[in-house]
Amino acid sequence: MIRSVYTFLVFALIILSCGEKTSSKKAPVEKVEKEPIEQPEPSQFTDSIQDLYQSIGLVNVSDSRIIVDLRYTTDNNFMGTVLYDTLDQLMLQSEVSERLSLCQDLLDSLQPGYRLKVFDGVRPLQVQREMWEALDSIPPLNRGKFVSNPIFGSVHNFGTAVDITICDSLGNELDMGAGYDDFRPIAFPSREAHFLKTGELTKEQWENRRLLRRIMRSQRFSNIPSEWWHFNAYSRLTCEAEFEILLDESGNHKWWVSPKIPKDSTEVMGDSLQPELD
Ligand SMILES: [Zn+2]
Repeated sequence: MIRSVYTFLVFALIILSCGEKTSSKKAPVEKVEKEPIEQPEPSQFTDSIQDLYQSIGLVNVSDSRIIVDLRYTTDNNFMGTVLYDTLDQLMLQSEVSERLSLCQDLLDSLQPGYRLKVFDGVRPLQVQREMWEALDSIPPLNRGKFVSNPIFGSVHNFGTAVDITICDSLGNELDMGAGYDDFRPIAFPSREAHFLKTGELTKEQWENRRLLRRIMRSQRFSNIPSEWWHFNAYSRLTCEAEFEILLDESGNHKWWVSPKIPKDSTEVMGDSLQPELD
């Protein structure tokens, strides 16, 4: 009797375990929903708009070694908002673009694998005005250190200035001791000696800035005292004589003459300031 009960239990257990297996086999397979592939937004910078830019000598910088990260096409900038609705390409005067490639050549020879990275090139005057007005908490005397007064225009508006840094061979930006569009004095090339002395700027950060200046100056780009990242390819006077100014993103443009600055004016014309020498 006991033996038959035992046999029954073993038999029942086998059936149960088989049942479990069977049921696990039948468990519904969870459906993996495929993530929809995000299609890139079509560029608003149409051929006809590009033609207008090209009509005043602006070209798309197409050197694949140079990284383009136009901050004003995103909200990752000091304004925290998108400023370029259609302009999604780095456009510069053609000669400036060629000079930039020659800068990259020099960087290739000094630091193989390192790449220039551009944050901004041509900037329409209309956007310049928006930036100026957004910083209205800063008195005009100081504001001009960071954004040129749109009354005078900026060298950027002609497509003859770049905001630029260097990336190492892993694509990481070199440490410059202050980020792009950092308005604190530590970003000022003119104050580097002071901050080196206090230790707020390290020797390595200073060397990184010097490398950027060496590269850019090799092609006659000049820097300004208040932004380590800004370089002019021409003086403002040359810009006004040789290039038209870009008025808005749609490609409207015209010849431009800055109004005369009254002698008693305290206005500072930002990126037209004299370069600071090392
Ligand atoms: Zn700039």
